Amino acid sequence: MTIEESIIDMGWNFDNSFASLPKVFYSKTKPTPVPTPKLVILNKSLAKNLGLDIEGLESAEGVEILVGNKIIKGALPLAQAYAGHQFGHFTMLGDGRAILLGEHITPKGDRLDIQLKGAGKTPYSRSGDGRAALGPMLREYIISEAMNGLKIPTTRSLAVLLTGKEVWRETKLPGAILVRVATSHLRVGTFEYISNWGSEEDLKILADYTIKRHFPNINLANNPYLELLNAVIKSQAQLIAKWQLVGFIHGVMNTDNMAISGETIDYGPCAFMDTYDPKTVFSSIDLSGRYSYKNQPAIGKWNLMRFAHTLIPLIDKNQDRSIGIIQDAISNFTDIFQSYWLDGMRAKLGIFNKEKKDESIVKRLLELMEKNRADFTITFRDLSQNKVSSHENDLYSTREFIQWYKSWQERLARQSETTESSLQLMKNNNPSIIPRNHRVEEALDAAVDNGDFYVMNDLLNALANPYEYSNYQEKYSNPPPCTDKPYMTFCGT
Ligand code: AMP
Ligand code: MG
Repeated sequence: MTIEESIIDMGWNFDNSFASLPKVFYSKTKPTPVPTPKLVILNKSLAKNLGLDIEGLESAEGVEILVGNKIIKGALPLAQAYAGHQFGHFTMLGDGRAILLGEHITPKGDRLDIQLKGAGKTPYSRSGDGRAALGPMLREYIISEAMNGLKIPTTRSLAVLLTGKEVWRETKLPGAILVRVATSHLRVGTFEYISNWGSEEDLKILADYTIKRHFPNINLANNPYLELLNAVIKSQAQLIAKWQLVGFIHGVMNTDNMAISGETIDYGPCAFMDTYDPKTVFSSIDLSGRYSYKNQPAIGKWNLMRFAHTLIPLIDKNQDRSIGIIQDAISNFTDIFQSYWLDGMRAKLGIFNKEKKDESIVKRLLELMEKNRADFTITFRDLSQNKVSSHENDLYSTREFIQWYKSWQERLARQSETTESSLQLMKNNNPSIIPRNHRVEEALDAAVDNGDFYVMNDLLNALANPYEYSNYQEKYSNPPPCTDKPYMTFCGT
């Protein structure tokens, strides 16, 4: 099968700035055509925001485009080169099964990458088949859209399509492609790659490109590369604080899975925590708990150090001075993170102003939640609805909790806002639902095993508005039935 260029205008508007970068950044690679593509889910509200014609996308020609059988007019498909520290070890990677079609410019003028994940082999595929299975692609669709509903920066999912070709994992599975939308796919690993295999000029080109694309407000007159580092530190601190505040565990925070834009990227073995336990880790391959819930901020900082390292030649001509500067910048991460996290926790507890002892109020609650194995989301949801009678949860009838509750109420009484506004602030910051693992699995089973997408669509509708406290959300908010087996996730390959 040969690839032809589509001439139908569906609202696509490509402009490929990444493709104009030096050749070391990528390999021009086209998607490998698939036999019988079928659209299984299209994100209509995202398509509308992108200025795309929904009927066009759903047409036979639209599907051929979304699956990579036809190339959108103006697109310049390529696989991006990158490296990464995987579980601490440095490796050369690159898009092994994803192809960037290029950048779509939305009617509002936003520049967004359109990437096909699972679109066939690339020069970076190593021993992989370049393909993806339906289950993991739908899982990324659900979790990324849930993150967007939770107002957490994330790559988005425009569509999932069946390829008509099976893939072999441990068994035969239906093959699929995810159409991913991102403000860019620049990763910490992109900088690591250029720093190792490109020239200093290439590195400067990458840094300048990143500033222009993501941080246009950086004052070029100062030290722009130090400002870039500070901006990335800030956006990562903010992102990871948001993860912690909803109990999200990324699962594989390798440097190739950390986007410079500050969006959550690469949903592999990620999951949301039910019972509050800071040691929670879901990924079956994370035997040492490197990427556990409580380690996420520290790993974020470690990854940022890898990023900072690549900038040494750009920040100061004197290497020793440059190293001193980046160490100072990175050492600020902990305070910046802590400040975002504490502000977020204050909002989760209905606190508007700042008092010195706020942190101890938050920490005491978390301690009691851990000790009593309370559900993270439900505890904050109950507090937001003032539903803390003892029958709701064992935690609420303990003497320690009753004491904590009293000190929290006294704290709230010391601010001028009304109880109603506190409860509203809490509802705006405590999701009534999260994509519970058992609900996600139920939706995936129905879709993958039976071709039934009703369960998934219903779940997605609820997850689109997680800060609403309606009956619709309520039905999805229960924790999983008790089980002895810990929930395990597997890399989305
Ligand atoms: P991930 O664990 O998804 O972040 O992927 C790590 C690396 O493995 C990236 O370079 C991917 O592009 C590559 N990769 C993952 N799955 C496949 C596959 N089935 N075929 C080729 N490359 C893959
Ligand atoms: Mg990855």
